[in-house]
Amino acid sequence: MARVAVVGAGLGGLAAAARLAAGGHAVTVFEQSDGVGGKLGRYERDGHVFDTGPSLVTMPQVYRDLFAATGGSLDDAVDLVRLDPAVEYRFADGSRLSVPGSPSAIPAALADALGPAAGTEWTALMERAAAMWRISEEPFLRRPLQGAATLARLARNPADVATIAPWQTLRGLGTRQLSDPRLRMLLDRYATYSGSDPRRAPAVLATVPYAEQAFGSWYVRGGLHRLALAVAERATDRGAVIRTGSPVRRVLVEAGRAAGVELADGSRVRADVVVSGVDAAALYGDLLPPGGRARDARRDLARATPSLSGVVLLLALRGRTPGLAHHTVLFPADYDAEFDAVFGGRGRTPRPVTDPTVYVSAPDDPALRPDADSESWFVLVNAPRHDPRRGVDWDEPGLADRYAADLLAVLARRGLDVRDRLRWCEVRTPADLARDTGSVGGSIYGSSSNGTRAAFLRPANASPVPGLFLVGGSAHPGGGLPLVTLSAEIVAGLVGPA
Ligand SMILES: Cc1cc2nc3c(=O)[nH]c(=O)nc-3n(C[C@H](O)[C@H](O)[C@H](O)COP(=O)(O)OP(=O)(O)OC[C@H]3O[C@@H](n4cnc5c(N)ncnc54)[C@H](O)[C@@H]3O)c2cc1C
Repeated sequence: MARVAVVGAGLGGLAAAARLAAGGHAVTVFEQSDGVGGKLGRYERDGHVFDTGPSLVTMPQVYRDLFAATGGSLDDAVDLVRLDPAVEYRFADGSRLSVPGSPSAIPAALADALGPAAGTEWTALMERAAAMWRISEEPFLRRPLQGAATLARLARNPADVATIAPWQTLRGLGTRQLSDPRLRMLLDRYATYSGSDPRRAPAVLATVPYAEQAFGSWYVRGGLHRLALAVAERATDRGAVIRTGSPVRRVLVEAGRAAGVELADGSRVRADVVVSGVDAAALYGDLLPPGGRARDARRDLARATPSLSGVVLLLALRGRTPGLAHHTVLFPADYDAEFDAVFGGRGRTPRPVTDPTVYVSAPDDPALRPDADSESWFVLVNAPRHDPRRGVDWDEPGLADRYAADLLAVLARRGLDVRDRLRWCEVRTPADLARDTGSVGGSIYGSSSNGTRAAFLRPANASPVPGLFLVGGSAHPGGGLPLVTLSAEIVAGLVGPA
């Protein structure tokens, strides 16, 4: 039995704690804030309840595996419901597309909304994406990062290389296979699921819509934060101790290996294994001593492009919006202008997006509203990270409120004017995300998938410091709830049972 210190009670840290405790280890989780969940957070005021981060659950099999492996079914812990329709897209030309929850119904829905070619072209693209998934799921998502070895194995099979097409971008794939610009926009958007720019992210990200459509879009009744609570409960049921209000100041390294953690109050807790669930940039930048074995990991991180961030509006609304889907995406006319603004491009520094894609999540869930004549909307737009020196200073006085007013006007122009129904609006900027969760600059997904080498620059789960492991969205295999949960499985495998 090892003494394991887990830093951070985000989903990654909690899932690792549950698995390691179930494996017989003595696990303590140290969380800086007063609650668990990290980005998978919750906000409540006046009876309006919001998820502050994720609103969409994909790949439910991953959580089923986690719960089954730690002692009981997921369905006993949370109420997971499959969404149908999965999402409604509204385009700048006024056309709309409601994507059914069942994959077999999607081609006909596409043909109805966008013309007959859209259904057949999308089906062909998803067949290619299914082949990409079969090749990449096991080596890239379920195993530790083994850069050169994984590439060598892929290279042995030229057909697999042609399917994955590592030289092709997601945009390139869409341009080649999809003739309708609206459908290309829809594909492009999946790059943002890993905080990336479709013009630089690899074509293999077509596996993201494949997984979403094949395994479904899901919601946790009562709010997604309940998933975090359920995993925390599972971890403590298996003997883990969760200490909230306990910021870790340093990871202790003695004789070249991880030896425990030092808390902000100066106290030290010794451990045989340290699992870091915090942003890898914060771990390597702040929590570990400079120099040492982590030098190469720091260099790789510096070479990667950080993922984008987001501005969130939590809207407490009077009244109901007839016909509003659970998830609605309102596209702008010029999607490239959004990526130029977020990542900086065409010779300009990053800046808030003036005409962004707006994502509205409005669950029809009585647990989230004060009464039947109210709604609680989560609104998200992509945004550049908080970077006062080289980009946007999201703490600049007045910026958050001005931008929130702009976004409400954008929503109104696109047919969802809720300004006269607004009880209040809570704005969360990238700077708030950085403060609340410790993610550097408020990057949502650690480093982005921009560039062909991005997957190999992502921090590995086994750090160069023996006894120190990384879980969570900034480490391999990447961000988003399912991958974060898989990172915990990989780390539990690397640590091994007691
Ligand atoms: C606005 C938004 C929308 C999103 N939408 C989706 C979605 O729809 N679907 C999806 O799958 N994913 C989505 N994501 C991504 C998903 O939320 C993340 O990938 C995932 O929750 C990250 O989990 P994590 O455990 O890696 O990190 P985090 O949740 O960031 O957890 C890190 C934890 O470490 C703590 N911590 C940091 N520093 C210290 C320290 N020094 N000492 C102690 N504790 C510390 C933090 O307080 C935090 O609790 C979204 C994220 C955001 C922000």
